[in-house]
Amino acid sequence: MSRNVLVLAEVRDGGLRNVSLECLAAARRVAEGGTITAAVFGSKAKEFADTLAHHGADKVVVATDEKLDQYTTDAYFQAFKQVIDKVHPDVILTGHTAIGRDVSPRIAARMGWGLISDCTDVQPADGRIIFTRPIYAGKAFVKKAVKEGTVFATIRPNNIPAGEADTSRSAQVEELDVAISADSLRTIVKEVVRKTAGGVDLTEARIIVSGGRGVKSAEGFKVLQELADVLGGAVGASRGACDAGYCDYSLQIGQTGKVVTPDLYIACGISGAIQHLAGMSNSKVIVAINKDPEANIFNVADYGIVGDLFEVVPMLTEEFKKV
Ligand code: FAD
Repeated sequence: MSRNVLVLAEVRDGGLRNVSLECLAAARRVAEGGTITAAVFGSKAKEFADTLAHHGADKVVVATDEKLDQYTTDAYFQAFKQVIDKVHPDVILTGHTAIGRDVSPRIAARMGWGLISDCTDVQPADGRIIFTRPIYAGKAFVKKAVKEGTVFATIRPNNIPAGEADTSRSAQVEELDVAISADSLRTIVKEVVRKTAGGVDLTEARIIVSGGRGVKSAEGFKVLQELADVLGGAVGASRGACDAGYCDYSLQIGQTGKVVTPDLYIACGISGAIQHLAGMSNSKVIVAINKDPEANIFNVADYGIVGDLFEVVPMLTEEFKKV
């Protein structure tokens, strides 16, 4: 059963977000011979057409109005809705990002379509599409089968591999005539202030070194940053550490923070409260460093080190520097 699939490609810091390429990989699974269209917005949108084609897009629809350079709900709603009206997709995929989580339900609700959020897997099966998503703060997974009708899905970063680029592919590029009037925008972005450690986006980081109340101070977080820098990763935190003022809330991982699925999550001085586990327990490999052998974090860890993080972390940093 062939399906037309539309993917919203996000641009950030001058590059395509990896999760958009992961959405294209998901699209390839469910298109089953149908057309895959990628929509990309902003004055430099055309620059990304080749990369989108290399990752599976048959068509790339660009809207280059400069009011789309920064995300605003109203501008993206107008542009994306226009693409949807043109493409008539059966499946619409966005990253489970701030943008995807904002624009997808807004359009789905207007159109009366379904939305499955935070998917970790997407597979075709007997004419249906099976979407897998975590429930109960990541303690269980539910599979939702879609038989008919248009459906939106947001894809959790770092779960569906983007796959290798096929540089022999090219896509038909179409420029959409989207004129966004300033009057229609209720918000204007004047400045973007980003507080991500080491420049690596936490939700897309392959390696996260995360600190809890056991890190004891903002100064203590510098020890974690050194390890993250050597590993090319990002620094995250528990809410305990954020509440104590050791780091910014933008680093918080958990139920009320960011949900991450890195290849490697190193939890330092984090007890492993259920609300923290909700944000990281699906990481591929979890290493816990805690001086309390009874700490709950060891129940989800693949590797546990019982010890003082201020001894263990610098040792790891020195060893990884040698690699
Ligand atoms: P603690 O529980 O105080 O643990 C500190 C750990 O550090 C201990 O296990 C200790 O043995 C260890 N330690 C101390 N010194 C060292 C050392 N030198 N070396 C090694 N180990 C050491 N929490 C989140 O993280 N994210 C959320 O999104 C979140 N959302 C919440 C939402 C709600 C509605 C509620 C009620 C709570 C939420 N919490 C969240 C808070 C959560 O319940 C815990 O309070 C919090 O995760 C504890 O943080 P922690 O593990 O850093 O601190």
